[in-house]
Amino acid sequence: MSSYPTVRLHIGGEWRDPGTKESAPVINPATEETIGTVPLATTADLDDALEAARQGFETWRATPVATRTEILHRAAGLITERAPEIGRVMTLEQGKPLKEAAGEAKRTADTLRWHIEDARRAYGRTIPSAPGTILSVRREPIGPVAAFVPWNFPVGGPNRKISTALAAGCSMIIKASEETPATAAALVACYVDAGLPPGVLNLVFGEPAAVSAQLIASPVVRLVAFTGSVPVGKLLAATAGEVMKPTLMELGGHAPVIVCADADPVQAARRAARAKFFNAGQVCTSPSRFLVHSSLYEDFAAAFVKATEEIVVGDGLDPATTMGPLANERRLAAAERLTADAVRRGATVRTGGLRPDRAGYFFAPTVLTDVPRDVLIMSEEPFAPLAPIVPFDDLDDALELANSLPFGLAAYGFTQSAATAEKLSAELEAGILSINHCGGSVHEAPSGGVKDSGYGREGGPEALDSYLVTKRVAHQLS
Ligand code: NAD
Repeated sequence: MSSYPTVRLHIGGEWRDPGTKESAPVINPATEETIGTVPLATTADLDDALEAARQGFETWRATPVATRTEILHRAAGLITERAPEIGRVMTLEQGKPLKEAAGEAKRTADTLRWHIEDARRAYGRTIPSAPGTILSVRREPIGPVAAFVPWNFPVGGPNRKISTALAAGCSMIIKASEETPATAAALVACYVDAGLPPGVLNLVFGEPAAVSAQLIASPVVRLVAFTGSVPVGKLLAATAGEVMKPTLMELGGHAPVIVCADADPVQAARRAARAKFFNAGQVCTSPSRFLVHSSLYEDFAAAFVKATEEIVVGDGLDPATTMGPLANERRLAAAERLTADAVRRGATVRTGGLRPDRAGYFFAPTVLTDVPRDVLIMSEEPFAPLAPIVPFDDLDDALELANSLPFGLAAYGFTQSAATAEKLSAELEAGILSINHCGGSVHEAPSGGVKDSGYGREGGPEALDSYLVTKRVAHQLS
């Protein structure tokens, strides 16, 4: 078995020995074997992390921007250098193919570089005013941030928050997922080894509800940043609201793909299938409801099934694998439940539909046709490799179906008509829209949701908005 590192908390510039702490097992989803343990922070550890983040913020905001920039660029260099090893650990604890895992690490170094340079241009402004008065607007780091991130992008997820916060001049306590802790620790080590002052970045794991309750309640924390499910996001936003703290919420979705009558069904199917099964469907922007014009329905379904059957399911450590297992037992149970419900109510399994006979949380990439519109999978985010395909005759009907859920994160459209593309752009309720492709997010442009999918943006210049406060200064010269 490949070696798995010892996981430690990082508080106030020190790695804390997990020896005496309570811990939870870390499981390899491809084998169901326990590969290590993750130490769980005590309330005293969290108090230390809060004090460290308070002091870390004082140090970091007083550090010249040129020095901050130098340290963060060194961290980006270390992430790039260590990407193969970070990827290996990620595959062991999350299951995704090695190539995807190392690619995620490399890409996230670029995300950091982008935010470093963007934050150097977080300009304020001077406004014409009365003689003898300087009226100005400054943008200042908001302060220590409490961040909570899930397990689906074990390095990219944490680093979106860390990179923006640190570039903006904030300090952070991040609670990464207890299911993918070694990847988060390897990421934090890059910042530490780059020379980040103690306390600027603190890493904890623990019982999620207890950790978030303690951190959000503390007056030290000035912003709560969360990525995860809608119910947990609502809970954290409500808790933060009681103490008047702003929140950044990147929550779930259930992305519709509308394939219009004038689209190329084979090209649309191949592009959509590639995105659908990326990370075994465990992506908040994963295409998850396929609404296809009746005239193309069969051609689209056949091409989608063909692309699906080309996927090689296996252990992510095997270079031949193109889709790994689901990351945990909860997702496997959801895949089984949603498929069974759809089939019981009349859907046809065109390929997949079952758990292969082997150890690990594997579920075959699945295509469902003749799917009634009221089955569970049409309203519940699958976060699994399931593709339900539904026909439509009228574009307005497809738009109504697409917009009928409380979510509004990603949406996709395929059409060769500029007028139809504009109609989709104007009428789809989503924060992220892709036309004629299903590409992923880019650090140059904002990602985020509307409705229950959350608020605030990650990526693009908008990302800094959550981490900066605006201060008006009117200075009358004496
Ligand atoms: P979950 O709701 O149990 O947890 C989601 C994340 O929130 C996990 O990382 C968990 O550790 C954390 N969490 C849970 N309770 C918390 C609390 N009280 N305080 C702080 N953090 C808390 O869901 P799950 O089983 O891990 O994932 C299932 C669903 O979550 C998916 O169906 C999907 O909708 C959503 N999800 C979304 C994203 C995303 O990128 N937006 C990522 C992972 C999961």
